Amino acid sequence: MTDPSSPDVLVVGLGPAGRALAFRAAAAGLTVTAVDPQPHRRWTATYAAWADELPDWLPPAVVAAAVSTPAVWTHGPRAVGRAYRVLDTGRLQDFLALDAVTMVTGRARTVDADGATLTDGRRLGARHIVDARGVPARSHRAQQTAFGLIVDDAIAAPALDGQAAWFMDWRRDNGTAPDDVPSFLYAVPVGGGRTILEETCLVGRPALGLGELERRLRIRLAARGVRIDGDEDVERVRFAVEGESVAPGVIGYGARGGLMHPATGYAVATALSCADAVVEAMRDGTDPQRVLWTTRSREVAMLRRMGLRVLLRLDGDGVAEFFDAFFALPVAAQRAYLSGRNDAAGVATTMWRLFRVLPAPLRGTILRSLPLWRTSRPGGR
Ligand SMILES: Cc1cc2nc3c(=O)[nH]c(=O)nc-3n(C[C@H](O)[C@H](O)[C@H](O)COP(=O)(O)OP(=O)(O)OC[C@H]3O[C@@H](n4cnc5c(N)ncnc54)[C@H](O)[C@@H]3O)c2cc1C
Repeated sequence: MTDPSSPDVLVVGLGPAGRALAFRAAAAGLTVTAVDPQPHRRWTATYAAWADELPDWLPPAVVAAAVSTPAVWTHGPRAVGRAYRVLDTGRLQDFLALDAVTMVTGRARTVDADGATLTDGRRLGARHIVDARGVPARSHRAQQTAFGLIVDDAIAAPALDGQAAWFMDWRRDNGTAPDDVPSFLYAVPVGGGRTILEETCLVGRPALGLGELERRLRIRLAARGVRIDGDEDVERVRFAVEGESVAPGVIGYGARGGLMHPATGYAVATALSCADAVVEAMRDGTDPQRVLWTTRSREVAMLRRMGLRVLLRLDGDGVAEFFDAFFALPVAAQRAYLSGRNDAAGVATTMWRLFRVLPAPLRGTILRSLPLWRTSRPGGR
């Protein structure tokens, strides 16, 4: 039985997901307590998303840079007809203000349906318990890694070849051979006349180390005539792309709750855009976990996990071939696979269209990555 003096919501973890949910819940008039070991820590990561993924309530001021047509390089340059937004991380955090939220500094040892027990023994309860603690990047989980340098736009220009941004540039001028674990250049403006140039390992188990990514980035930038003097701001990226189970009766949110796209590592826009549905369910007395995890969204998540298994098997040539076919699909088909959580038919159609046009060796790789194939092989284990 919940104590009547308990708040409506307890949010454990104040990364982008927990903070967005706490903010929207408080704005909707719910009483909210939030706990984090460092609730006022400033975020420093560069967060970005497709423009159409962001919720209407987010003001334009949180956008640091707008790219109307990002590009990819697979076998050659290709424009992606879908607008992309790089967020101003500081402004996003400030906009998600928590003045109306009771803040607790502490680390949860356990989180269950009744609340959270902190490492110092304090116990916090609420009517709805949200676990938004993120996922530790342990080696058994697939991870994304990246090493980036933030430079003036003019310095970055030779790496961009006239494009506004590289969403993915898979050229191998980073010193790699076709059968090396691949990495790509992510190059986007971050506002204030600056651009991030980031060598990225999309997913790996284990993912490429940051030292190797830095080495590749420096080779690539030297090959393109980008002048680096050693004073650049650096971004180091390592995070798990797979979620973690939460206790029964707890609402898992953000990366912790499996809201990250396992094959791309994007999660911020999903956390922002799903917050209102969760808050509405809390107010209506509907089960928020059921609202988040419909039959369709479970199917979508399962299909995307298949996508992750495929990517984990691709070498440098395979990955360029794969994304060449992917970005040749109409934008609506790309969007179905990359964004949203409920269009299972759309995701399956995109995957089937892709499978049909890929060369035979890649189709074989895809088939071998299916769990069905592994378990149904005669003598298979
Ligand atoms: C440099 C970098 C760049 C990225 N760029 C993008 C991007 O462009 N787009 C995108 O969508 N994603 C991006 N990501 C992925 C990004 O990490 C996630 O999308 C996002 O941070 C997930 O948010 P989250 O709130 O679910 O988890 P987290 O950001 O991991 O936040 C978890 C929070 O929980 C707190 N916490 C942990 N343990 C406890 C505990 N025991 N008790 C209480 N609190 C706890 C932590 O202190 C933290 O504040 C990037 C990641 C990095 C590192």
